[in-house]
Amino acid sequence: RVKDNGRNSFSFYNSTMNANVLRNVNINRRLRYAIDNGKLEMYYQPLINLQTGKICGAEALMRWTDEELGFVPPDEFILLAERNGLIHQLGDFALTQACQQAAKWQAISPMQIAVNFSSVQFRDCHALLAKIIAVLDKTGLPKSKLDVEVTESLMISQESELSSMLAELRHLGIQLSIDDFGTGYSALSYLQKYAFSKLKIDRAFVMNLSENEADRSLVKAIIAMAKALNLKVVAEGIEEQAQADFLKRLDCEYGQGYLFSKPLPADEFEKLLIEDNLSPIQELPNSYII
Ligand code: C2E
Ligand code: MG
Ligand code: MG
Ligand code: MG
Repeated sequence: RVKDNGRNSFSFYNSTMNANVLRNVNINRRLRYAIDNGKLEMYYQPLINLQTGKICGAEALMRWTDEELGFVPPDEFILLAERNGLIHQLGDFALTQACQQAAKWQAISPMQIAVNFSSVQFRDCHALLAKIIAVLDKTGLPKSKLDVEVTESLMISQESELSSMLAELRHLGIQLSIDDFGTGYSALSYLQKYAFSKLKIDRAFVMNLSENEADRSLVKAIIAMAKALNLKVVAEGIEEQAQADFLKRLDCEYGQGYLFSKPLPADEFEKLLIEDNLSPIQELPNSYII
Protein backbone atom coordinates (compact mmCIF):
# COMPACT_ATOMS: atom_id res chain seq x y z
CA ARG A 1 0.00 0.00 0.00
CA VAL A 2 1.33 3.39 -0.92
CA LYS A 3 1.26 6.02 1.80
CA ASP A 4 0.47 9.50 0.62
CA ASN A 5 2.84 11.58 2.77
CA GLY A 6 2.34 14.66 0.73
CA ARG A 7 2.62 15.25 -2.93
CA ASN A 8 6.39 15.17 -3.41
CA SER A 9 7.15 11.85 -1.77
CA PHE A 10 4.21 10.31 -3.58
CA SER A 11 5.37 11.39 -7.00
CA PHE A 12 8.95 10.44 -6.13
CA TYR A 13 7.76 6.93 -5.31
CA ASN A 14 5.91 6.80 -8.60
CA SER A 15 8.85 7.92 -10.69
CA THR A 16 11.19 5.39 -9.03
CA MET A 17 8.60 2.72 -9.63
CA ASN A 18 8.27 3.76 -13.26
CA ALA A 19 12.04 3.73 -13.73
CA ASN A 20 12.19 0.15 -12.44
CA VAL A 21 9.29 -0.96 -14.61
CA LEU A 22 10.89 0.70 -17.61
CA ARG A 23 14.26 -0.95 -16.97
CA ASN A 24 12.59 -4.35 -16.72
CA VAL A 25 10.68 -3.77 -19.95
CA ASN A 26 13.94 -2.81 -21.65
CA ILE A 27 15.81 -5.81 -20.28
CA ASN A 28 13.05 -8.16 -21.48
CA ARG A 29 13.11 -6.57 -24.92
CA ARG A 30 16.91 -6.49 -25.28
CA LEU A 31 17.29 -10.02 -23.88
CA ARG A 32 15.15 -11.36 -26.71
CA TYR A 33 17.41 -9.49 -29.12
CA ALA A 34 20.52 -10.86 -27.39
CA ILE A 35 19.28 -14.46 -27.69
CA ASP A 36 18.35 -14.05 -31.37
CA ASN A 37 21.63 -12.34 -32.25
CA GLY A 38 24.17 -14.39 -30.33
CA LYS A 39 25.03 -11.68 -27.81
CA LEU A 40 25.26 -13.97 -24.78
CA GLU A 41 28.52 -15.48 -23.67
CA MET A 42 29.57 -18.05 -21.09
CA TYR A 43 32.46 -17.29 -18.72
CA TYR A 44 34.25 -19.94 -16.70
CA GLN A 45 35.43 -19.67 -13.11
CA PRO A 46 38.00 -22.26 -12.00
CA LEU A 47 37.06 -24.74 -9.30
CA ILE A 48 40.16 -25.39 -7.18
CA ASN A 49 41.08 -28.50 -5.25
CA LEU A 50 42.09 -26.80 -2.00
CA GLN A 51 44.37 -29.64 -0.96
CA THR A 52 46.48 -29.58 -4.16
CA GLY A 53 45.86 -26.04 -5.41
CA LYS A 54 45.01 -27.45 -8.86
CA ILE A 55 42.09 -26.63 -11.15
CA CYS A 56 39.67 -29.55 -11.17
CA GLY A 57 36.74 -27.93 -12.88
CA ALA A 58 34.90 -24.75 -13.73
CA GLU A 59 31.54 -23.13 -13.16
CA ALA A 60 29.90 -21.72 -16.29
CA LEU A 61 28.46 -18.23 -15.67
CA MET A 62 26.45 -16.25 -18.19
CA ARG A 63 27.57 -12.82 -19.32
CA TRP A 64 25.59 -10.23 -21.24
CA THR A 65 26.70 -6.77 -22.33
CA ASP A 66 24.03 -4.98 -24.31
CA GLU A 67 24.67 -2.11 -26.75
CA GLU A 68 21.94 0.00 -25.11
CA LEU A 69 21.93 -1.14 -21.48
CA GLY A 70 25.61 -1.94 -21.00
CA PHE A 71 26.59 -4.80 -18.68
CA VAL A 72 23.57 -6.38 -17.04
CA PRO A 73 24.33 -8.61 -14.02
CA PRO A 74 23.03 -12.20 -14.35
CA ASP A 75 21.24 -11.96 -11.00
CA GLU A 76 19.09 -9.24 -12.59
CA PHE A 77 18.35 -10.71 -16.02
CA ILE A 78 17.98 -14.33 -14.87
CA LEU A 79 15.20 -13.28 -12.48
CA LEU A 80 13.34 -11.52 -15.30
CA ALA A 81 13.95 -14.43 -17.69
CA GLU A 82 12.37 -16.73 -15.10
CA ARG A 83 9.25 -14.58 -15.20
CA ASN A 84 8.96 -14.14 -18.98
CA GLY A 85 9.89 -17.69 -19.95
CA LEU A 86 13.16 -16.83 -21.71
CA ILE A 87 14.97 -18.84 -19.01
CA HIS A 88 14.43 -21.99 -21.08
CA GLN A 89 16.36 -20.56 -24.03
CA LEU A 90 19.06 -19.13 -21.74
CA GLY A 91 19.33 -22.47 -19.98
CA ASP A 92 19.71 -24.38 -23.26
CA PHE A 93 22.40 -21.96 -24.36
CA ALA A 94 24.36 -22.25 -21.10
CA LEU A 95 24.18 -26.04 -21.07
CA THR A 96 25.15 -26.48 -24.73
CA GLN A 97 28.03 -24.00 -24.62
CA ALA A 98 29.40 -25.31 -21.34
CA CYS A 99 29.25 -28.97 -22.39
CA GLN A 100 30.82 -28.22 -25.78
CA GLN A 101 33.74 -26.39 -24.14
CA ALA A 102 34.20 -28.96 -21.39
CA ALA A 103 34.17 -31.80 -23.94
CA LYS A 104 36.98 -30.04 -25.81
CA TRP A 105 38.91 -29.34 -22.57
CA GLN A 106 38.88 -33.04 -21.65
CA ALA A 107 41.94 -33.33 -23.92
CA ILE A 108 43.80 -31.01 -21.51
CA SER A 109 42.40 -32.17 -18.17
CA PRO A 110 39.63 -34.46 -16.88
CA MET A 111 37.81 -31.42 -15.54
CA GLN A 112 34.20 -31.10 -14.44
CA ILE A 113 31.85 -28.42 -15.63
CA ALA A 114 29.18 -26.97 -13.32
CA VAL A 115 26.11 -25.42 -14.95
CA ASN A 116 23.52 -23.36 -13.06
CA PHE A 117 19.88 -24.38 -13.45
CA SER A 118 16.85 -22.33 -12.48
CA SER A 119 14.03 -23.98 -10.54
CA VAL A 120 11.73 -22.84 -13.35
CA GLN A 121 13.53 -25.20 -15.75
CA PHE A 122 12.44 -28.11 -13.52
CA ARG A 123 8.73 -27.41 -13.98
CA ASP A 124 8.87 -29.82 -16.90
CA CYS A 125 11.23 -32.44 -15.48
CA HIS A 126 10.85 -34.84 -18.41
CA ALA A 127 11.76 -32.21 -20.98
CA LEU A 128 14.73 -31.05 -18.94
CA LEU A 129 16.11 -34.54 -18.44
CA ALA A 130 15.72 -35.28 -22.15
CA LYS A 131 17.48 -32.02 -22.95
CA ILE A 132 20.43 -32.77 -20.68
CA ILE A 133 20.86 -36.28 -22.12
CA ALA A 134 20.61 -34.94 -25.69
CA VAL A 135 23.26 -32.28 -25.08
CA LEU A 136 25.62 -34.78 -23.44
CA ASP A 137 25.17 -37.15 -26.39
CA LYS A 138 25.67 -34.42 -28.95
CA THR A 139 28.76 -32.90 -27.34
CA GLY A 140 30.29 -36.20 -26.25
CA LEU A 141 30.97 -34.94 -22.72
CA PRO A 142 31.15 -37.89 -20.30
CA LYS A 143 28.10 -37.83 -18.01
CA SER A 144 30.24 -37.81 -14.86
CA LYS A 145 31.81 -34.50 -15.95
CA LEU A 146 28.57 -32.52 -15.83
CA ASP A 147 27.61 -30.99 -12.51
CA VAL A 148 24.02 -29.75 -12.31
CA GLU A 149 23.78 -26.84 -9.84
CA VAL A 150 20.42 -26.19 -8.24
CA THR A 151 19.41 -23.98 -5.31
CA GLU A 152 17.44 -24.75 -2.18
CA SER A 153 14.42 -22.99 -3.72
CA LEU A 154 13.94 -26.07 -5.90
CA MET A 155 13.36 -28.22 -2.80
CA ILE A 156 10.43 -26.07 -1.68
CA SER A 157 8.35 -27.28 -4.59
CA GLN A 158 6.93 -30.67 -3.64
CA GLU A 159 6.49 -32.05 -7.14
CA SER A 160 6.58 -35.80 -7.10
CA GLU A 161 8.28 -35.90 -10.49
CA LEU A 162 11.24 -33.93 -9.15
CA SER A 163 12.33 -36.75 -6.90
CA SER A 164 12.52 -39.32 -9.70
CA MET A 165 14.11 -36.83 -12.08
CA LEU A 166 16.96 -36.04 -9.67
CA ALA A 167 17.37 -39.74 -8.89
CA GLU A 168 17.60 -40.47 -12.62
CA LEU A 169 20.28 -37.79 -13.08
CA ARG A 170 22.40 -39.45 -10.41
CA HIS A 171 21.64 -42.92 -11.79
CA LEU A 172 23.10 -41.75 -15.11
CA GLY A 173 26.25 -40.64 -13.30
CA ILE A 174 25.61 -36.92 -13.62
CA GLN A 175 26.75 -34.83 -10.63
CA LEU A 176 24.25 -32.80 -8.63
CA SER A 177 25.19 -29.81 -6.47
CA ILE A 178 23.29 -27.68 -4.03
CA ASP A 179 24.25 -24.05 -4.69
CA ASP A 180 24.20 -21.07 -2.29
CA PHE A 181 23.78 -23.43 0.65
CA GLY A 182 22.49 -21.72 3.78
CA THR A 183 20.64 -18.86 2.08
CA GLY A 184 17.37 -20.62 1.22
CA TYR A 185 14.55 -21.32 3.59
CA SER A 186 13.88 -24.98 2.91
CA ALA A 187 14.07 -27.69 5.55
CA LEU A 188 17.32 -29.65 5.67
CA SER A 189 15.54 -32.97 5.16
CA TYR A 190 16.00 -32.63 1.39
CA LEU A 191 19.70 -33.39 1.91
CA GLN A 192 18.87 -37.01 2.73
CA LYS A 193 16.00 -37.27 0.28
CA TYR A 194 18.08 -36.46 -2.82
CA ALA A 195 21.51 -37.84 -3.67
CA PHE A 196 23.60 -34.70 -3.95
CA SER A 197 27.28 -35.01 -4.74
CA LYS A 198 28.35 -31.53 -3.61
CA LEU A 199 27.28 -28.76 -1.31
CA LYS A 200 28.39 -25.22 -2.12
CA ILE A 201 28.66 -22.97 0.93
CA ASP A 202 27.38 -19.53 0.02
CA ARG A 203 29.83 -16.65 -0.22
CA ALA A 204 27.96 -14.86 2.59
CA PHE A 205 29.48 -17.30 5.13
CA VAL A 206 32.97 -17.33 3.61
CA MET A 207 33.31 -13.54 3.34
CA ASN A 208 33.87 -12.82 7.03
CA LEU A 209 35.68 -15.99 8.10
CA SER A 210 38.75 -14.07 9.29
CA GLU A 211 36.85 -11.60 11.48
CA ASN A 212 33.74 -13.43 12.53
CA GLU A 213 33.88 -16.26 15.08
CA ALA A 214 30.21 -17.14 14.53
CA ASP A 215 30.74 -17.58 10.79
CA ARG A 216 33.76 -19.80 11.49
CA SER A 217 31.62 -22.02 13.73
CA LEU A 218 28.86 -22.14 11.14
CA VAL A 219 31.21 -23.12 8.31
CA LYS A 220 32.84 -25.75 10.52
CA ALA A 221 29.40 -27.21 11.29
CA ILE A 222 28.32 -27.19 7.65
CA ILE A 223 31.48 -29.04 6.62
CA ALA A 224 31.01 -31.61 9.40
CA MET A 225 27.39 -32.14 8.38
CA ALA A 226 28.34 -32.51 4.71
CA LYS A 227 30.95 -35.14 5.61
CA ALA A 228 28.41 -37.07 7.66
CA LEU A 229 26.12 -37.08 4.62
CA ASN A 230 28.93 -38.05 2.23
CA LEU A 231 28.87 -34.79 0.34
CA LYS A 232 31.90 -32.95 -1.01
CA VAL A 233 32.10 -29.30 -0.01
CA VAL A 234 32.83 -26.27 -2.19
CA ALA A 235 33.43 -22.89 -0.54
CA GLU A 236 32.25 -20.02 -2.76
CA GLY A 237 33.67 -16.51 -2.90
CA ILE A 238 37.15 -17.09 -1.43
CA GLU A 239 38.97 -13.76 -1.73
CA GLU A 240 41.72 -14.02 0.89
CA GLN A 241 44.50 -16.50 1.54
CA ALA A 242 43.47 -16.68 5.22
CA GLN A 243 40.03 -17.92 4.17
CA ALA A 244 41.55 -20.59 1.92
CA ASP A 245 43.91 -21.69 4.72
CA PHE A 246 41.09 -21.98 7.24
CA LEU A 247 38.93 -24.01 4.83
CA LYS A 248 41.83 -26.25 3.89
CA ARG A 249 42.49 -27.02 7.56
CA LEU A 250 38.84 -28.02 7.95
CA ASP A 251 39.22 -30.48 5.05
CA CYS A 252 36.97 -28.53 2.72
CA GLU A 253 37.68 -30.21 -0.64
CA TYR A 254 37.07 -27.40 -3.13
CA GLY A 255 37.11 -23.64 -3.40
CA GLN A 256 36.12 -20.96 -5.85
CA GLY A 257 36.77 -17.25 -5.68
CA TYR A 258 38.65 -14.18 -6.81
CA LEU A 259 41.73 -15.32 -4.83
CA PHE A 260 42.23 -17.98 -7.49
CA SER A 261 40.53 -16.38 -10.47
CA LYS A 262 37.53 -14.36 -11.57
CA PRO A 263 35.23 -15.94 -14.15
CA LEU A 264 37.08 -15.86 -17.50
CA PRO A 265 36.17 -16.00 -21.20
CA ALA A 266 36.64 -19.50 -22.67
CA ASP A 267 40.00 -18.79 -24.33
CA GLU A 268 41.50 -17.30 -21.16
CA PHE A 269 40.24 -20.16 -19.02
CA GLU A 270 41.76 -22.59 -21.51
CA LYS A 271 45.19 -20.92 -21.20
CA LEU A 272 44.98 -21.14 -17.42
CA LEU A 273 43.99 -24.80 -17.61
CA ILE A 274 46.96 -25.62 -19.86
CA GLU A 275 49.43 -23.77 -17.59
CA ASP A 276 47.99 -25.41 -14.51
CA ASN A 277 48.24 -28.82 -16.13
CA LEU A 278 51.92 -28.33 -17.00
CA SER A 279 53.02 -27.12 -13.58
CA PRO A 280 53.71 -29.69 -10.84
CA ILE A 281 51.38 -29.92 -7.83
CA GLN A 282 52.27 -27.15 -5.45
CA GLU A 283 51.21 -25.32 -2.32
CA LEU A 284 48.74 -22.50 -2.94
CA PRO A 285 50.93 -19.49 -3.75
CA ASN A 286 49.94 -16.09 -2.39
CA SER A 287 50.12 -14.60 -5.84
CA TYR A 288 47.66 -16.92 -7.48
CA ILE A 289 45.47 -13.96 -8.45
CA ILE A 290 45.33 -13.23 -12.16
P1 C2E B 1 26.14 -18.46 -8.36
O1 C2E B 1 25.78 -19.65 -9.16
O2 C2E B 1 26.14 -18.61 -6.89
O3 C2E B 1 27.56 -18.01 -8.89
C1 C2E B 1 28.59 -17.47 -8.10
C2 C2E B 1 28.63 -15.97 -8.22
O4 C2E B 1 29.64 -15.46 -7.36
C3 C2E B 1 29.03 -15.48 -9.62
O5 C2E B 1 28.36 -14.25 -9.84
C4 C2E B 1 30.53 -15.26 -9.48
O6 C2E B 1 31.04 -14.35 -10.44
C5 C2E B 1 30.58 -14.69 -8.09
N1 C2E B 1 31.88 -14.86 -7.43
C6 C2E B 1 32.75 -15.88 -7.54
N2 C2E B 1 33.83 -15.71 -6.75
C7 C2E B 1 33.64 -14.53 -6.11
C8 C2E B 1 34.42 -13.79 -5.14
O7 C2E B 1 35.50 -14.19 -4.71
N3 C2E B 1 33.89 -12.61 -4.70
C9 C2E B 1 32.69 -12.13 -5.16
N4 C2E B 1 32.26 -10.95 -4.69
N5 C2E B 1 31.93 -12.81 -6.07
C10 C2E B 1 32.41 -13.99 -6.53
P2 C2E B 1 27.65 -13.92 -11.23
O8 C2E B 1 28.45 -14.47 -12.36
O9 C2E B 1 27.33 -12.47 -11.20
O10 C2E B 1 26.31 -14.75 -11.16
C11 C2E B 1 25.34 -14.48 -10.20
C12 C2E B 1 24.28 -15.55 -10.18
O11 C2E B 1 23.53 -15.54 -11.41
C13 C2E B 1 24.84 -16.96 -10.05
O12 C2E B 1 25.16 -17.22 -8.70
C14 C2E B 1 23.67 -17.76 -10.57
O13 C2E B 1 22.68 -17.89 -9.56
C15 C2E B 1 23.11 -16.85 -11.66
N6 C2E B 1 23.62 -17.31 -12.96
C16 C2E B 1 24.76 -16.99 -13.62
N7 C2E B 1 24.85 -17.64 -14.80
C17 C2E B 1 23.75 -18.43 -14.89
C18 C2E B 1 23.25 -19.36 -15.86
O14 C2E B 1 23.86 -19.65 -16.89
N8 C2E B 1 22.03 -19.95 -15.57
C19 C2E B 1 21.33 -19.67 -14.43
N9 C2E B 1 20.15 -20.30 -14.22
N10 C2E B 1 21.78 -18.83 -13.49
C20 C2E B 1 22.97 -18.21 -13.71
MG1 MG C 1 26.30 -21.59 -9.11
MG1 MG D 1 26.44 -19.88 -5.49
MG1 MG E 1 24.10 -17.19 -6.29
